[in-house]
Amino acid sequence: MWYVSTRGIAPRVNFEGALFSGYAPDGGLFMPEELPQLDRETLCQWSTLSYPGLVKELCALFIGSELLPKDELNDLIDRAFSRFRHREVVHLSRLRNGLNVLELWHGVTYAFKDLSLSCTAQFLQYFLEKREKHVTVVVGTSGDTGSAAIESVQGAKNMDIIVLLPKGHCTKIQELQMTTVLKQNVHVFGVEGNSDELDEPIKTVFADVAFVKKHNLMSLNSINWSRVLVQMAHHFFAYFQCTPSLDTHPLPLVEVVVPTGAAGNLAAGYIAQKIGLPIRLVVAVNRNDIIHRTVQQGDFSLSEAVKSTLASAMDIQVPYNMERVFWLLSGSDSQVTRALMEQFERTQSVNLPKELHSKWERQDYEKMAVMECDGCCVELCLGNCGPRRGSMTDIPGTAMVRGGG
Ligand SMILES: *Cc1c(COP(=O)(O)O)cnc(C)c1O
Repeated sequence: MWYVSTRGIAPRVNFEGALFSGYAPDGGLFMPEELPQLDRETLCQWSTLSYPGLVKELCALFIGSELLPKDELNDLIDRAFSRFRHREVVHLSRLRNGLNVLELWHGVTYAFKDLSLSCTAQFLQYFLEKREKHVTVVVGTSGDTGSAAIESVQGAKNMDIIVLLPKGHCTKIQELQMTTVLKQNVHVFGVEGNSDELDEPIKTVFADVAFVKKHNLMSLNSINWSRVLVQMAHHFFAYFQCTPSLDTHPLPLVEVVVPTGAAGNLAAGYIAQKIGLPIRLVVAVNRNDIIHRTVQQGDFSLSEAVKSTLASAMDIQVPYNMERVFWLLSGSDSQVTRALMEQFERTQSVNLPKELHSKWERQDYEKMAVMECDGCCVELCLGNCGPRRGSMTDIPGTAMVRGGG
């Protein structure tokens, strides 16, 4: 499997290349060159798999056994989930009226990022050991990412992790999660300022290409393809748990509500949909509503400042992974995506081209709508069994809140 940049200029890379890259050299994000199509038979076979089983199948599909043999891949994934508290790793709780909650919080730090980061760290360690290399992961955090990244990397032989922790901006529990891991390879620094201000020095460091190369620095944020890949399994697992039978024509549609900040899990769901999973995606944002404005009005523009809400993990100005969504929407058109993103980087404000926005509405609006929950947000991923009824806002229970991750 090859990966190409959404901006079409950088040379293609394999999974290992994408795993270590973060951004592509042309500023884009890596995406699979071709998306496989899963047929009904494959979906039926997958429908009885456990959550780790689904992660294994999806990773095998997108990594390639010449790079990572299947049995070794399976071991890495088993190791990644070995410290989860729930025997299923991910659990679907059934509420009333066909409403379900996908419990993604059974990892060590309780953040759903534990799932994808633990696998990603295993992949990194695997390739580093094989190539006898070492990296230092540098992470700024508003809470969830720091804890989960530390947990996934702690004790790894070929990795160190440096976390910048904005003092007073994380919860007490998160602060303790970050400062009480006594492993040689974990380095946490308390810093002044909020997570936006914290991004500045990190950006400066990563802009110094020679420095980054000399010290083998990398980031582990949600633009990393490996994280998106693993998150596809959430959608497959939820789908199969919600569909009692796959004998109907067409296959049943399940609606998944994705709380989003950087649109990582959303991009994962959209790719899952593109390769054949019959889901309808609903994006939940908080007052940081750039994705809402983009879908409704084609207005992809920064607001003045990040607004603090109860769900700090979603208090994000720039939803990086929307670039992947735009690329998919445009039919893998890297020219359109590049023009759009470069204009956004220059002016921080883009009106989506009509063709793109209308495509979204006509073809994908049915599959992607946006729900806004003022102040707080839905911090749960919901699958709605059975055919669609009415609009998103009439589904009860979506105001359930889990603040701050
Ligand atoms: C990271 C995080 C999000 C945002 O996830 P993305 O898929 O990157 O948008 C939302 N909620 C919680 C609790 C998180 O930790």
